[in-house]
Amino acid sequence: MSKPEELLSSIFGFSAFRPGQAEIVAAVAGGRNTLAIMPTGGGKSLCFQLPALLRDGVTVVISPLIALMRDQVRGLREAGVEAGALTSGNTEEETEEVFAALDEGRLKLLYMAPERLASGGTLTLLRRINTSLIAVDEAHCVSQWGHDFRPDYLRIGDLRRALDVPLAAFTATADEETRAEIVTRLFDGTAPETFLRGFDRPNIRLAFEVKDQPRRQILNFAAARKGQSGIVYCGTRAKTETLAQALCEGGHAACHYHGGMDPDDRRAVEARFQREDGLIVVATVAFGMGIDKPDIRWVAHADLPKSIEAYYQEIGRAGRDGAPAETLTLFGPDDIRLRRSQIDEGLAPPDRKSADHARLNALLGLAEATACRRQRLLAYFGETSDPCGNCDLCETPPELFDGTEAVRKALSAILRTGESFGAGHLIDILTGAMTDKVRERGHDGLPTFAVGRDLPKAEWQAVFRQMMGHDLIRPDPERHGAFRMTEAARPILRGEEGITLRRDTIRKSVGRPVVKTLVSDEDAPLLSALKAKRRALAETARVPAYVIFTDRTLIE
Ligand code: ADP
Ligand code: MG
Ligand code: ZN
Repeated sequence: MSKPEELLSSIFGFSAFRPGQAEIVAAVAGGRNTLAIMPTGGGKSLCFQLPALLRDGVTVVISPLIALMRDQVRGLREAGVEAGALTSGNTEEETEEVFAALDEGRLKLLYMAPERLASGGTLTLLRRINTSLIAVDEAHCVSQWGHDFRPDYLRIGDLRRALDVPLAAFTATADEETRAEIVTRLFDGTAPETFLRGFDRPNIRLAFEVKDQPRRQILNFAAARKGQSGIVYCGTRAKTETLAQALCEGGHAACHYHGGMDPDDRRAVEARFQREDGLIVVATVAFGMGIDKPDIRWVAHADLPKSIEAYYQEIGRAGRDGAPAETLTLFGPDDIRLRRSQIDEGLAPPDRKSADHARLNALLGLAEATACRRQRLLAYFGETSDPCGNCDLCETPPELFDGTEAVRKALSAILRTGESFGAGHLIDILTGAMTDKVRERGHDGLPTFAVGRDLPKAEWQAVFRQMMGHDLIRPDPERHGAFRMTEAARPILRGEEGITLRRDTIRKSVGRPVVKTLVSDEDAPLLSALKAKRRALAETARVPAYVIFTDRTLIE
C-alpha cells in the first residue's frame, strides 16, 4: 500500500479514494501549485488534509467560515491529527493551545479566516512556523464575479509571494470566468496544475415546476417526503417564517433560518439540523456553506435561485452520502422579473451586470429546458453527457410545439405598442379582449389585435414566460416592467430562426390533476402502470398528472 492510501484508511477511515482525489493528493503533496474543481460533496477537504500529513512543516488552510474550520479541526483531532484554528471565535485557551502546538512544531494544519491576513503579525507568524503549503478552501470567494466574494481573499496572492510556498486552491464553482480569476489572483496568472472533476451528482433528481399554487406545491413535495431531512430555500426572509409555520401546521418538524436572526438562534438551528433526523429548515441562502450534513434527502426552491451556480451549489447540499436525493425548483414570471431587476438595480458595473444576466439566463434555460435537465446543467459546466433518466424531463418528456408564430405575434405586439406594456395588456391585445385600456388606447385598431385568438390567455402567459426565459424579452425596471425586445429576438422576428416551446408547462398553469387512484404501496407492479398512465394522460388529455408517494399509499 502506498503512503497516501495507508493514511487514507488509517487516519481518515476510508477504503478508497473518490474519483479524482488520488491525483489531486499526489499533485498537492508533491508541492505543485494546484487548482482542484470538484463538486460539492466530492471530498475536497481530504485533498489538502492528507497532503498536509505527507509534507514537512505546517499547512495553512484559508477557509471562509468559522463553522467550517471548527468542524474540520474537530474531525482531524478526533482522527489523531494535530490541527488548530486561529479564529475570532476562539476562547483564550484554544488560542494558547494552538500557539503551544506551533511552538513545539507539532501542528500539521493551521486553519485561519482570510481576515486574519490583514494583520501584520500573521506573516511573521507563518514564516516562523515553517509554513510549507497554503491551501485555499472555497477559492471562488476570491472572485468578484462569484456569489460569495470575500475581499480578504485578495490578500492570499501576496501571502503566497511572501512565503514562496506551493498553493492549492479548491472550489466547486467551475465556470470559466471564475476559474480564470482564481488563476489571476492566487497564482499571478501562471496556470497551476488544474483538476476538473466531474460535476455530475447522479443521485440527485432534478425537477422544476412552474409556480401554480406555490405554497401548496412545496407542502405537497414535503408531505411526500415526511420524516426526511430537507431544506426549502426562499427568496425572502419573511417567506421563510410563514412557510416554516405552514410546514409545522402540516405536521412537519420545521424551522426557519435567515441572516436577520440572532447569531445564537442561527447556531441553534444549524446544530439542530446537524443532529436531528427529519428536520426541515426553511431558509434564505444565508443557510449554506457551513452545512456538512451528509444525509439531506431533499432540497426545494420556493423561489428561483439567482444564477445557475447558486442553483447547483444549493441543490448540491442534498445527498452528499451518495444515496438518492430529490430536488424541486419552482419558478414563475415574477421570479424572472425580480431577478432581472435585482441585477439591473444593483450597483455593479455594466459588464458585471451583463455577466449576471447571462448567469440568470443559463438558469432560466434550465428551467425552460425541453429535454434532459442534467445534460443541460452539465453542458453549462463544460461536460457532455447522455440523457440521465433521473430528472423530470427524462421521466415525462414534455410536449413541444413550434412556437415561432406565437413568439413573432407577441414580439410584434410589443413593438407596435412602443415597448410600453407588460404581459397582461399585450395578451388582451393578442386575444382580442375589448378591455377599457384596449379601447382607450385604440389598440383594437392594431394589426396585431386578436391575431392570437387561437391560444387561450393562460397559454399566452406561458409563451411570455418562456420568452423571458429564453431572454427574448426583458421587463424594463424603469418602465414598470414593460417588456423590451432583446437582440436575441431579432432573428426570430425576421424569420431567420425558429423556436420550440413547451406545451406541458402551459397546460400546467391551466388545469388541475384530474385522476386520483389509491393503491397499496406493496403493489409495486402498479407503479409502472401508473407511470405509463400518467404519461399517456399528459400526452392525450394534456393535463398534468402526478404520482405522489406517501407513507402508505400511492396517489396519482
Ligand atoms: P467538499 O468540500 O468537496 O464539498 P467534503 O470534503 O466536505 O466535500 O467531503 C464530503 C464528504 O465526503 C465528507 O463527509 C467526507 O468525509 C466524505 N469523503 C471524502 N473523501 C472520501 C472518501 N475517499 N471515501 C468516502 N468518503 C469520503
Ligand atoms: Mg468543502
Ligand atoms: Zn434527465
